[in-house]
Amino acid sequence: MKTAIACVVTAALGLTPTVLLAAPPHVHGVGILQLVLDENSLSMELHLPAIDVVGFEHAPSDPQQREAVQKAVAMLKDASQLLVLPRDAQCTAAPAVVSSELLPTGYSRPADTTETEHADRDADHDHEAGHEHADFDVSYRFDCRRPDLVEDVTILLFKQLPKLERLDVDMATPGGQDRQRLTPEQDSIDLP
Ligand SMILES: [Zn+2]
Repeated sequence: MKTAIACVVTAALGLTPTVLLAAPPHVHGVGILQLVLDENSLSMELHLPAIDVVGFEHAPSDPQQREAVQKAVAMLKDASQLLVLPRDAQCTAAPAVVSSELLPTGYSRPADTTETEHADRDADHDHEAGHEHADFDVSYRFDCRRPDLVEDVTILLFKQLPKLERLDVDMATPGGQDRQRLTPEQDSIDLP
C-alpha cells in the first residue's frame, strides 16, 4: 500500500520512477534524500524520522510540542539555509512543501504501524506499545538556468538536527545515478 502511494506521488511529480521504487525505510538517526536533476529542474525529496527532528513521533499534545513542530516546519522549508547550490548554476527555489503525520493537516500518508518498516524494532528505544512512527517529508524544487553547473550540493542539516547521524542520498542526473552517504563530517554530495 505504501509503495502504491509512493508511486502515485512519484507519477504526480513527474520524477524518475526508478529513484523511488519503494517507500524509504524508517530508521531513527538516518535521513533519506532523493535527488533528481532533469533538464532545468532539480528536485530533492527529504525524508526524516520525526524523532530526529522534534524528539517525538506522536501528535503534539501540548503547546511546547506544537511549537516544536511549527519551528521544525519553518526550518525545513527554508531551502536557502539548508541547501547550498553552486552560485553559477543560478538556481531559484520554489516554495518547499513539508508534510508530516504530526501536522494537523496535509498528511503525506496515513500513519500505519502494520505497514511501517520498523527497522529499529529491537533497538534501545522507548517507544510505547502500539506507538506509531512518524516522519517529516520535504519536497524541494529548484529551477536552474545552468543545470550543468550543479556539480555539488552541500546540505546543512546536521547542524540543525544533532540527532541525525547520517543522510543516505540517491541521485539521478543526466550523468547517471549514484548513492552517497552524508555524515556530520561529510555534508557535501558530488552529483554524477
Ligand atoms: Zn520512529
